[in-house]
Amino acid sequence: MSEQVVTCRVLLVEDIESEAALVAKNLRRVSGWRFLIEHFDRLTPGVERARHARYDVVLLDLNLPDGAGIEVCQRMHAAAPHTPIIVLTNQNSPELGLKALREGAQDYLIKREVDGPLLGRAIRYAIERHRGEQALRASEQRYALAVSGANDGIWDWNVRDGTAYYSARWKAILGYAECDVSERIAEWLERIDQRDRERFDEAMSQHLEGQTGFFECEYRIVTRGGEIRWVASRGVAIRDDAGAASRMAGSMTDITRRKETETRLLHEAMHDALTGLPNRNLFIDRLDLGLRRYRRDPSKQFAVLFFDIDRFKHVNDSLGHAAGDELLLQIAGRLLACLRPGDTLARLGGDEFAVVLNDIGGATDVIYVVERLQASLAQVFEIDVHLVYTSASIGIAISSESYRRPEEMLRDADIAMYRAKGTGQATYAVFDSAMHDHAMFQHRMETDLRRALDKGELEVYYQPILAIETQCVMGFEALLRWRHPSRGLVLPDDFIGIVEDTSLVVPVGWWVLDRACRQLAKWQHLFPQTPPLSMSINVSGKLFLTDDMAKRLAALLEDHGLQPASLHLEITERVVMDHGDLVLSTLADLRELGVRLHVDDFGTGYSSLTYLQRFHYDALKIDRSFVSTMVESKDSVAIVQALISLGATLGMTVVAEGIESAEQLRRLRQMHCPAGQGFWFSKPLQQDAVSDYLRQNQNPGPVLLPATG
Ligand code: C2E
Ligand code: MG
Ligand code: MG
Repeated sequence: MSEQVVTCRVLLVEDIESEAALVAKNLRRVSGWRFLIEHFDRLTPGVERARHARYDVVLLDLNLPDGAGIEVCQRMHAAAPHTPIIVLTNQNSPELGLKALREGAQDYLIKREVDGPLLGRAIRYAIERHRGEQALRASEQRYALAVSGANDGIWDWNVRDGTAYYSARWKAILGYAECDVSERIAEWLERIDQRDRERFDEAMSQHLEGQTGFFECEYRIVTRGGEIRWVASRGVAIRDDAGAASRMAGSMTDITRRKETETRLLHEAMHDALTGLPNRNLFIDRLDLGLRRYRRDPSKQFAVLFFDIDRFKHVNDSLGHAAGDELLLQIAGRLLACLRPGDTLARLGGDEFAVVLNDIGGATDVIYVVERLQASLAQVFEIDVHLVYTSASIGIAISSESYRRPEEMLRDADIAMYRAKGTGQATYAVFDSAMHDHAMFQHRMETDLRRALDKGELEVYYQPILAIETQCVMGFEALLRWRHPSRGLVLPDDFIGIVEDTSLVVPVGWWVLDRACRQLAKWQHLFPQTPPLSMSINVSGKLFLTDDMAKRLAALLEDHGLQPASLHLEITERVVMDHGDLVLSTLADLRELGVRLHVDDFGTGYSSLTYLQRFHYDALKIDRSFVSTMVESKDSVAIVQALISLGATLGMTVVAEGIESAEQLRRLRQMHCPAGQGFWFSKPLQQDAVSDYLRQNQNPGPVLLPATG
């Protein structure tokens, strides 16, 4: 393999012919290189040529007819600044050579001493050194450009003598012009905000001592105008052989905007947007603080109040959300006005507020404050042109050794609030251990219930509903049962409330609907009659709030091949009272679909007649409490009679619930009550017992009624 030959273009400026020939001869001896030499014996044409052509090196005699001395080198360097120059001098002028080096020459050679290898080496070094210098210059320029263009300020600190370089941007961040800042490290350190100085020094000395790979710190700094800005500094130390930092350099970034955003986000994360009050997160924080303080010093008693605004939903629904918001704002204002500066009022969401009441002497102190708060809320609120009355149900939990976590105390205040609400509006209750036991019981039931559906522990029982006149079976009411593994058969009154308060309400509701409809289809098939057997199903209000209820129900009926009119949905007055217009639109969809709507437990709610005006129902179910007292109480008789007439007038059928005796039945029959159900006919039956029951009762013979009454 032949050695690779490097081609090198040489510009030789030499007026003495023999010297030029000697140079050419020497160059020919350099192995591995091929020199293309262009020779000029005058400076001016040589310089002109150098300006336009590219050479790898210039060999330049400093003693020419049209120029001599250092000026020769200057002219050539000006014409070809990117080409390395080697100066050729006579033996008697070495100082001239040195001067030439300062003027841009790479090297100088004394003509007499030059031989082939020496000249070759000189040319090679000159080219390489020149290339290195060019690269260094380019990188320095790049660095300078980056520094001047960067958003970051640059600092470079001589740790040994305390001097420092700061870039223009570094100074600009602090509001200074280029010349305003001296080159001392103190210029920086003295401006650091006192609150952060210790942290800064700590991070710095850790790095200087070699404990951290780099120095990094976010801190506040005071600008020229006295303003405070947030900056982040990073840096690395250069160390001597002993490991001691001799120099350290790095950057400084203005992070004020980011810090402001962070602070704002933190505030937002901790506060309620509407009222600006602390939210649940911050409240829990404060509560935690209170608990810690109390644990250190049990004389520092405090209480948590949990508020729920009575009838808030009503205001929101009837006057609109803007009015609802305004009411909440005014409530927040009134509550704040009743509290002391050390207390914390928070909005936990919706119409729920909570208070940490600090430094209380005992329960009586708290009750005093609570009564003051309630009195303040009892004053009328003016919302736009409306006068609004409201009140709060308040639950109270008082600090005790047993509270480990803030959430526990808030939970107990919440439980007490529910207890208060259950006893009426504008009331309060102090949490006690019986409430705790009850809540624990509820909690266990809830956990068990969540498994009950999957484990097949839920069952539907069916109670026959009969025509009172003929005693023919018209249909059934589906009644939910829970076969609990340890408690046995649990009746709905003991668990339906839990179902309704949890997310279980929807799946359980649909499970019952599906189950009962499937059975009805079977029984209609086995026991055909006119009109076909019906199924009454109790439906929770929450189900009416799902917007696709009617659609889903239509699909269900179709799946089971049922006429919509066979399905009777039982709704209590409460459902419409609690959810208002939202429910009414679903009811209208259901009516459109053709299912029947029955009012359950009629007469036990508060505004029964208004309620009937708002929507047309197909049937009224007279509550058991009236039927069961009919024999002893004239009033009950009158009410039952009135309800039956009311039904007839409004075009509704009437079903009497809870018929337990022949006498009750006889009276209802006298009053022409169309339908009824009760233990006298049958208790709710297990699914498998229904067919037998229907077989025995489908075509009853003449009805025997007791003659007395
Ligand atoms: P309700 O809809 O008023 O059902 C009638 C209740 O009276 C049933 O109680 C039934 O067993 C009982 N009952 C019927 N005849 C007599 C009688 O002659 N004497 C006596 N003392 N009681 C009689 P149950 O099954 O305990 O249900 C209680 C309530 O639970 C129901 O009252 C209903 O509101 C609710 N419920 C039952 N099943 C469901 C369901 O699947 N979903 C929903 N949301 N609620 C249900
Ligand atoms: Mg019912
Ligand atoms: Mg009922």
